[in-house]
Amino acid sequence: MRHTEVIFCLLQWFTLLLQHSNGSEFRNARYRSSYADYLQENERTAMDTIININDYEAVDTMDGVKLREGDIAVSSRSEKSCFAQSCLWSKSVDGHVYIAYTLSPEYTEVDRRTIKQGMDLIERDTCVRFVPRTHQRDFLDIQPKTGCWSYLGSSGGRQTLSLQSPECVNSGVVSHQLMHVLGFVHEQSRADRDKYVTIMWSKIWKDRVRNFEKFKMNNMDMPYDYGSIMHFGKYAYSEDGDPTIVPKRSWNIKLGQRFGPSELDVMKINKLYKCT
Ligand SMILES: [Zn+2]
Repeated sequence: MRHTEVIFCLLQWFTLLLQHSNGSEFRNARYRSSYADYLQENERTAMDTIININDYEAVDTMDGVKLREGDIAVSSRSEKSCFAQSCLWSKSVDGHVYIAYTLSPEYTEVDRRTIKQGMDLIERDTCVRFVPRTHQRDFLDIQPKTGCWSYLGSSGGRQTLSLQSPECVNSGVVSHQLMHVLGFVHEQSRADRDKYVTIMWSKIWKDRVRNFEKFKMNNMDMPYDYGSIMHFGKYAYSEDGDPTIVPKRSWNIKLGQRFGPSELDVMKINKLYKCT
């Protein structure tokens, strides 16, 4: 070996050693989110994508945002008074619920189109309308921050909705976040969920068990919806690739999906906002 080759080999070895010793935090984040990597693209729910990104990016420790249930941003105000459908957007006299928004100039044209497709999915068959902000006091400020997350319901004034680009910019994920904006939590956190699914507690990463809490909230007498865009996937936060949520009726029922609001999701929006 020539002298330069020896030095080159030593350098490579040294780089590897450094990656190994300094990368523990990175590797943990990667490991924790790895379950979704094993899912085929067509098996991944909107929430699988969201969990993968938020955990990989360790959103909790960035941007000063605290997340509940994996993607619901919590401020002291919303934690006290804005949980579970208690902070609705106001309804216009013409029967529509107008939600004003601004889109960050950082988004590409493709991003903008996709975000609008996500809005269309919510608007279709409901009375909700997303409108570019002109003067409204309360509005959604859509930003490509780190991760995919939203506050719950209307928090008053400017409220951030983070859709990291391009990872969170697909119409299914956008519509999932917009349902949080409307005031909906995840379907499997319904107080009556134990009638419909079994939570496999021992299979969940220990530091993510809290994301499976139940919430007392108004189900509006609507049936449990395994196919809701708001449902966690079967393997959400799995430690070793085993299911963490198992449907009670039949093993084969799919949990969650990645396309957009289900028929029942649409009915729930209409019921909550009294669309006629
Ligand atoms: Zn969510």
